[in-house]
Amino acid sequence: MSKEIVDVQNVGMKYQSLNGEINALEDISFSVKKGEFVSIVGPSGCGKSTLLSVISGLIKPTHGKVFIDGEEVTKTSHKVGYMLQKDYLFEWRTIYQNVILGLEIRKILTPENREHALELLKTYGLYEFKDKYPNQLSGGMRQRAALIRTLAVKPEILLLDEAFSALDYQTRLAVTEDIYSIIKNEGKTAIMVTHDIAESISMSDRVIVLTRRPAVIKSIHSIEFADCPNRTPLKCRDAPNFRQYFNTIWRELDVHV
Ligand code: ADP
Ligand code: MG
Repeated sequence: MSKEIVDVQNVGMKYQSLNGEINALEDISFSVKKGEFVSIVGPSGCGKSTLLSVISGLIKPTHGKVFIDGEEVTKTSHKVGYMLQKDYLFEWRTIYQNVILGLEIRKILTPENREHALELLKTYGLYEFKDKYPNQLSGGMRQRAALIRTLAVKPEILLLDEAFSALDYQTRLAVTEDIYSIIKNEGKTAIMVTHDIAESISMSDRVIVLTRRPAVIKSIHSIEFADCPNRTPLKCRDAPNFRQYFNTIWRELDVHV
């Protein structure tokens, strides 16, 4: 964990709409190291999804630049995998057929990549379900299948946009535990957007707090749990300083005003 893999430089984004201009992002700069898990929290509508879309290359910012591995982002890249709130599994395809979808689309469904996809299914407990259809799986398993589909194309960086917010609370805790260990195990870099402060603290090495629209960075917190070696999202929720991080970030988000 040392080299900077994502570098966001002075990114600003203004949308043109019928009702005039919407200034979503003002002047955002930060970087993410290889293997780091960074989350972005901020009030609803402040521009979090916009920021992820800019990083992914899906939209072009009105100001500033993003670099991935030192290369300026001008379009979507195979180095980046995107996971959203909805799992977007196709109900008429089996889990295996869903998992290899990205490989099919990119025309890289080689024997080696098929094998890799099967390995991922085995490692992460979905191999026995590979011939089932999504509606035969629980919400948590579907989300894991969606992550495996994202990993099957071997991205270096994962972008997660409120990826767990459609799940009920219990499932969500279990799934974050799962997804966190998969991401760490595979050595991926992750940038996660969430409105859930506890979720962001529990999973991240750093939490970036954004202000209301137009979003600027309010603060960046390094999250460390000295009392929680071999941390997992669930375990560190019991660490004494978890509350402190929570209260600080809660105050910064200023949700009442
Ligand atoms: P968040 O993910 O933090 O809730 P978004 O990035 O989705 O916020 O949106 C930030 C602001 O930009 C919102 O006010 C939203 O209405 C506006 N916005 C998002 N996408 C578009 C678009 N394609 N055209 C115009 N305005 C948009
Ligand atoms: Mg959003």
